[in-house]
Amino acid sequence: MADNCLICDRIKLIQENKNPYFVRELNTGYVVLADSQYFEGYTIFLSKHHVTELHQLASAEKLAFLEEMSLVQEACAKAFHADKMNIELLGNGDAHVHWHLFPRHNGDTAQAGPVWWTPKEIMYSDDVVKDMPRLNRLRAELNAALDGVLAARDSEVQAVRELALD
Ligand SMILES: [Zn+2]
Repeated sequence: MADNCLICDRIKLIQENKNPYFVRELNTGYVVLADSQYFEGYTIFLSKHHVTELHQLASAEKLAFLEEMSLVQEACAKAFHADKMNIELLGNGDAHVHWHLFPRHNGDTAQAGPVWWTPKEIMYSDDVVKDMPRLNRLRAELNAALDGVLAARDSEVQAVRELALD
């Protein structure tokens, strides 16, 4: 935990059972829905540890974190019927390592390209917490897809764990 870190604050809310965007805890991180759902299904995977760069995680944790991120984005793709997934680790605003996972749909931006071409005031216009039935539906859909992906990929996850422990 770090002082003055919005993501550490959000994690604290998860631990206190007070974060409405929380979906699931994995070994290396927390799955949450993004506040804005302009791109429906926009999911964020937060590192449990406050590091500002991926390479600052210990090797075994980094490998497991990458594997889990892949599982989360796969679940996100399935839950929200993505035509394409966009996966980004940025951290220019909030430096605590977190993945932006965007299920993209053909024609969801005026011009084919990254979500960031959408004006900020549009992209962040609809805080989904104001629509609890929708937030609950999205959370249930992602949770169900996570159940399926975690079960289907169990042997691969075990293999990565053994690799990381070597
Ligand atoms: Zn932090």
